[in-house]
Amino acid sequence: MIILKSPREIEKMRLAGRLVADVLEMVADTAAVGVTTKELDERAERMMREGGGVPAFKGYQPEFIKSGPFPATLCTSVNSEVVHGIPDGRPLEEGDLLSVDTGVELDGYFGDAAITIVVGDGSIEARFLADVTRRALEAAIGMCRPGNHLSDVSHAVQEVAESEGYSVVRRFVGHGIGTSMHEDPPISNYGEPGKGPVLKPGMVLAIEPMVNMGTWEVDASPDYWRVCTKDGSLSAHFEHTIAITEGGPDVLTASGGEGGL
Ligand code: MG
Repeated sequence: MIILKSPREIEKMRLAGRLVADVLEMVADTAAVGVTTKELDERAERMMREGGGVPAFKGYQPEFIKSGPFPATLCTSVNSEVVHGIPDGRPLEEGDLLSVDTGVELDGYFGDAAITIVVGDGSIEARFLADVTRRALEAAIGMCRPGNHLSDVSHAVQEVAESEGYSVVRRFVGHGIGTSMHEDPPISNYGEPGKGPVLKPGMVLAIEPMVNMGTWEVDASPDYWRVCTKDGSLSAHFEHTIAITEGGPDVLTASGGEGGL
């Protein structure tokens, strides 16, 4: 069941979303050669708690993961890691493609967003993959209008990614979000347009394209968090929490100015 949010609830979700955006901006500014993902994680947790929020990923335990709850505030997925990488003590290296996903609970409401950054100068290929993934998310956000179907959002991601010769991960999806981090509906990053629920004002969606340079297939062990591309190719990930309004998409995890990524 898709739970519609009132304008007042959407304003509360915007506060959660802004905190997520601020944390990701700090991470993007701090990530550099020699910095560890563990250091980024500690700073992120401190900033979230100082902002009155609770890290939403830390302690998260879905039934199918047997290695224990997620231990960190950030998911940090480097290079061929797709999602759910765990921060560690390895210093980031020149050219690493770092995806960072994080969520917060603030005053009972959740925000969820992800960015991908290239550490140092990096390769043109890595930068282009990240850029295409961001553009795929922008295209998907553009479809977040009342009257469109949910799969129009999915199709927009697929179209942008595949037109550049990349593939979209099929096993993991975006989701509705509100007073829980994961609500209905699940949001695929591929599919035929014109299918699924009709979008309505008050729906709030966390849309998160995961785009691989090679095959769309991933290795996901049933008992461990980290997910990697099956062929070892690079993978990028962007996410925003978006409210559907009469006037179109309202990006709740935008940093500062309107609609910024
Ligand atoms: Mg998410």
